Amino acid sequence: MGKACYNKYVKIQTDTFFNAKPETVLKSVFGYDSFRNNQRQIVQSVLDKKDTLVIMPTGGGKSLCYQIPALILDGITLVVSPLISLMQDQVASLESSGIHCVFLNSSLDLDSYRNAVSEIKNGDVKIVYVSPEGLATSRVREILTDSTLNISCIAVDEAHCLSQWGHDFRPDYLEIAAVRNLFSDAVVIALTATATKQVRDDIVKNLRMKSPEIFISSFDRPNIYLEVQPKKNALDQVISCIKRYSGESGIIYCNSRKQVDELTDVLDNMGYSVLNYHAGLTDEVRAKNQELFIKDQVQIIVATIAFGMGIDKPNVRYVINYDLPKSIEEYYQEIGRAGRDGMPSTALLLFSLGDIHKVRYFFENSADPEQAEFLLQGMLNFAQSRTCRRKVLLKYFGEEYFPKEDNSDCCCDICSRGELPLKDMTIPVQKFLSCILRTGSRFGTTYVIDVLTGSRQKRILENGHNMISTFNIGHELCREDWFELAEVMTEKNIIRKTGDYNVLEITGIGRSLLATREKVFLPFVMSEKSSGGQGGTTGAGAGIKPLTKKAVVHKKADFESITDSNTLLLVDELKQWRKKKASELDVPPYVVFGDKSLFEIATKKPATEKQLLEIYGIGEAKVENFGSSILRIVDNFL
Ligand code: ADP
Repeated sequence: MGKACYNKYVKIQTDTFFNAKPETVLKSVFGYDSFRNNQRQIVQSVLDKKDTLVIMPTGGGKSLCYQIPALILDGITLVVSPLISLMQDQVASLESSGIHCVFLNSSLDLDSYRNAVSEIKNGDVKIVYVSPEGLATSRVREILTDSTLNISCIAVDEAHCLSQWGHDFRPDYLEIAAVRNLFSDAVVIALTATATKQVRDDIVKNLRMKSPEIFISSFDRPNIYLEVQPKKNALDQVISCIKRYSGESGIIYCNSRKQVDELTDVLDNMGYSVLNYHAGLTDEVRAKNQELFIKDQVQIIVATIAFGMGIDKPNVRYVINYDLPKSIEEYYQEIGRAGRDGMPSTALLLFSLGDIHKVRYFFENSADPEQAEFLLQGMLNFAQSRTCRRKVLLKYFGEEYFPKEDNSDCCCDICSRGELPLKDMTIPVQKFLSCILRTGSRFGTTYVIDVLTGSRQKRILENGHNMISTFNIGHELCREDWFELAEVMTEKNIIRKTGDYNVLEITGIGRSLLATREKVFLPFVMSEKSSGGQGGTTGAGAGIKPLTKKAVVHKKADFESITDSNTLLLVDELKQWRKKKASELDVPPYVVFGDKSLFEIATKKPATEKQLLEIYGIGEAKVENFGSSILRIVDNFL
């Protein structure tokens, strides 16, 4: 990313927004009408010089929480960020919005470094990005200890790197506390998407934050449609998702390098624009493939878990999990790469019971197989859930989610489904409950189902559970349906999962059903592999009432709702222009304009600069930098 390109942008004077209202900066610089989540309160907390800890999911809008105060406060904001690619991205985005800033990291040659230092000293920049390793070097320390330098804020991005409990602990991050001591008047803001209490406590302790204000946002990503499909013909399922988002960016995660390479080859042979990414490739190939994806020069990346750290690309429209992730944490992190720009996107998980064994095989020799099994159970809970996926996902992170009565606010496959027919499930329910009782109410779903379906695995034989009356009596349902039944019974509060290991327990309702032998009708669709429960379907006389699920239509992506062919042509034209401009400036296309801005331009067809300023994500500098080209393109279409 050549530094020279930034000189092509219009720059806003460094003191333009000193003491301005946050709303003014939001609109004038970033082109947004309102704050999201807790952004407004967070900005205020920093402006009030209170140390602030921000826990917000990916795509929630953490960057503005320190970028806006940086422009309003007197002095410089130092932003510590762990990855050079992230820093470059942020700097490029700010520059395109007219905010001049610099980064200090190991990728700079001596000239660029000297240049950056003189700009810092001359007061030409408000925001300085620095890597934690950079912070530890004497050349950066020297600049920082210059007594004339006014550092008013230190922002620590990806702050979970400060915690031994986090997945990306970086010892260099511990140096930040020492830097903070140099600037005792500077306010500190730390930001992360990792929510656990241990990580939070470590951040506060290791940064020596002073009675920090803590803001925890919801982990919900409402624009991501959560969908789980039984993995039947995986390739067809993948292609159908790709076709839905034809021409848009997507990531497909697989668990093994071999699977990544195979799927990449198949898609490539079919003519899709696709590349692979995994730890078996050379650094150069990985970096190249990532760059082509980020710059919209290739549309699909098939990857292992190795892909994604440090990717800020906002217009990833879908993430497909071709294989089962090993934990909810992994799944949430991967799907989090979809829809950072807030536009409708899809997370599709292809789930097969066979994949469970593959995951177990992976962690058989791990340091803590029990913990790995515990994490896997969380993932299975989600994948096999019969209730709102959002609810299950958020519950895992300790958050209660209450969808509206008609589910119109949730977009997941379960909430979007029509009403399910009621089926007489009395006998399977009785068998399931008896099996829990006869195995001593000490086991989880998988074990109970293993006993019901006659598994002769070691643990069952050792416990003598092959000798009990409920062993091998569950042939009317296939395994998948037993799992579904367990979920429906949980949803109907007939059983509940308890403790860390999700041990099944029979509730009061369940005990009463066992005792009275009352008929049980449940919303259930039997798969073809099952030989049948009993009886037919009915809507009346049910001991247990069904969920009333109204069919809701999956929210459409903006580009799907554009049907006018002239407007679609304009979107294409704008995208072509954006690609050319981005390549001239050597930045990713989304740095020039986000997709949402382009779609709004195409539908609203602004004719003047004033109208252009009304478009989402277009601030004053963007109008100055790109306005005339955009207005000309639109004018040609009128
Ligand atoms: P995070 O760092 O939390 O993952 P970002 O700061 O990258 O998220 O923000 C994600 C996207 O949302 C960016 O494209 C950003 O410009 C946009 N965004 C942030 N705040 C707002 C807002 N108040 N209104 C509209 N878009 C916003």
